[in-house]
Amino acid sequence: MSVKVRFAPSPTGKLHVGNVRTALVNWLFAKGQGGQFVLRIDDTDLARSTVEFEQGIELDLRWLGLDWDERHNQSKRFDRYEAAAERLKAMGRLYACYETAEELDRRRKVQLSRGLPPIYDRAALNLTDAEKAAYEAEGRRPHWRFRLDGKRVAWEDLARGHAEVDTASMSDPVLIREDGLFLYTLPSVVDDIEMDITHVIRGEDHVTNTGAQIEIFEALGGPVPAFAHMPLLVGADGQALSKRLGSLSISEMRDQGYEPIAITSHLGRIGTSDPLEVAESVQALGQSFAFSKMGRSPARYDTADLDRLNAQALHAMDYAVAKPRLEKYDADLGEAFWNAVRPNLQKFADVVDMARIVRGPVAPVIEDAAFAEAALKVLPETVDENLWPTWTAAVKEATGAKGKALFMPLRLILTGQSHGPDMAAVAPMIGRERIVRRLRGESA
Ligand code: GLU
Repeated sequence: MSVKVRFAPSPTGKLHVGNVRTALVNWLFAKGQGGQFVLRIDDTDLARSTVEFEQGIELDLRWLGLDWDERHNQSKRFDRYEAAAERLKAMGRLYACYETAEELDRRRKVQLSRGLPPIYDRAALNLTDAEKAAYEAEGRRPHWRFRLDGKRVAWEDLARGHAEVDTASMSDPVLIREDGLFLYTLPSVVDDIEMDITHVIRGEDHVTNTGAQIEIFEALGGPVPAFAHMPLLVGADGQALSKRLGSLSISEMRDQGYEPIAITSHLGRIGTSDPLEVAESVQALGQSFAFSKMGRSPARYDTADLDRLNAQALHAMDYAVAKPRLEKYDADLGEAFWNAVRPNLQKFADVVDMARIVRGPVAPVIEDAAFAEAALKVLPETVDENLWPTWTAAVKEATGAKGKALFMPLRLILTGQSHGPDMAAVAPMIGRERIVRRLRGESA
């Protein structure tokens, strides 16, 4: 059996680290197994879904390197859902209900006041045809509920181990609203069957749904896929991330300069027993992925870890990869420059500051004019890759300064900053003329 998974986002918002983690784990699992990844846009809610969000989702997935083998829109498949609904009606598993939201609410309050669980009482199952006709004549439209078996539904969850849901403790789920809108529950099952989905991988907030959906799979005669429900993300403080997810959108992270591989390495490895290190590629991440490595406790999403992985990704980036991006800033920033500065990058855009060191202008910081003057006097005539050892030895000789007292003033004069790339690599790239001007205190 070849593996086929789906990522089924609703295009009602941007992708954020929470739903991208679901996409990613689906993708990693499928690719690790040589299987297929389906992108299914869950856009049955036509009023809330937008083409902009749909395009944003595709852009974000592509940017992260998560390509898909098949792509579908649920909004183009309503005939399939109608057909399935008719079959369920014919079996007596889908029944018409006429209660208004207020009536349901009142019943729930009565149940709660009597200490009963607020489960739908199935009053509509006893409606006669005449009563239904009377409601219709009043102008009421039915909503449709799936009649649960009311049993223990069990499955072996790839992420949670043995899992059980007692559908007797649940209300019969509404599958079709009174305005005819198909809620997510039924289309998802119909598509999982018709698209031959073998594994449904999603967040742990769907566990209860799974109980009802397994009954729908069985009622429709489809094979029941395997399920994996992943622990949810929490922030560094251990609090659920769900409320803050809006501010953790992938598009925003792209604007902030995060590397896709840092994001995928982070989201693919938190909550697993793998070390939190950057992967060579998202394919390599797929090769090492396994549900058996996933713990049952929530996965900690910590921006500090992401920042560390981002820096790691840049420090390991080959010139060939960096070249086209460097050229966007400056056509002549070559391999030597890249190799000199990459160990100091946190974000790729830091190259702009680093480029200013070699291209200017830098406002030199001179704390001791006599020191700068002495350093200028012994500056070698030829500036080549030996500049730094030769020159610093000469400055040491001339001034008596050594260690930090020797190197820090030179760094401050040549770069205007107390931190930065390896001076031995960078100083020759600055060129003699600029070095001279900076030693004289000129901005150059
Ligand atoms: N559209 C659903 C969601 O985003 C899909 C859930 C599922 O994977 O079945 O929650």
